[in-house]
Amino acid sequence: MKVLDKTKIIKIEVKNLTISTKKFTMIAGPCSLESEQQINQILSANLKFDILRAGLFKPRTSPYSFQGLQYRGIELLVNQAQKYQKPVISEITAISQITALAKIDILQIGARNMQNYELLTAAAKTNKPILLKRGFSATIDELLASAEYILAQGNEQIILCERGIRTFDNQMRFTLDIGAISLLKDRCNFPIFVDPSHAAGNAKYVSSLAKASVAAGCDGLIIEVHPNPENAKSDQLQQLTIDEYKDLVEELRPWI
Ligand code: PEP
Ligand code: MN
Repeated sequence: MKVLDKTKIIKIEVKNLTISTKKFTMIAGPCSLESEQQINQILSANLKFDILRAGLFKPRTSPYSFQGLQYRGIELLVNQAQKYQKPVISEITAISQITALAKIDILQIGARNMQNYELLTAAAKTNKPILLKRGFSATIDELLASAEYILAQGNEQIILCERGIRTFDNQMRFTLDIGAISLLKDRCNFPIFVDPSHAAGNAKYVSSLAKASVAAGCDGLIIEVHPNPENAKSDQLQQLTIDEYKDLVEELRPWI
């Protein structure tokens, strides 16, 4: 497996930013893009982050929940991110979205699609960087095998992301597998990111999981932040307010 080749240094270039295991990268933004006002409130708040996140195509458990702005949100997201010179990441949920997502800098493959091999292959062929999330029932070997599908297309611009797995306990939304960070670092040179927001499922636990992940040696974090979480159209409970995000960055500052 190529993922086992540890001699190669992986450097991912997006706009003026380099993502690698040599420096820390922060991704922040709302779970879903909802409106121009919402995304502007995040972008104009002078928050410290390197890459803007916002979901357009949302993989919701219920078909009756908000599914994202989908195609009609793409231009808004790209324009606003450009205005603030932030690279942007958004989730791709189907091969048919590839052309429309051409201006999205990093494609996210979500936990629910980690083993959607056709999607992995098609996304890899765009030659865009891909942030691959661990499926919540996937082993480390399965995550690496999915990364291999991207490598098999000649695309090495891969970020792996631990975002919590299913265990016997469900007090938190998922169980963050802190050990995954060391295990993945032993096995590959891809930047290893952690998403504490989806693991915690509740804003009050996000900061401790983020700090634990940084202490364990992750290369980046992906954090959900919303100007008004209680009115969010998805993941209301877990999104940090702008002030909570600022506090978290201050707490992490000595370490990142
Ligand atoms: C998300 O990042 O909004 C998301 C749906 O994440 P996951 O695929 O980890 O559930
Ligand atoms: Mn979310």
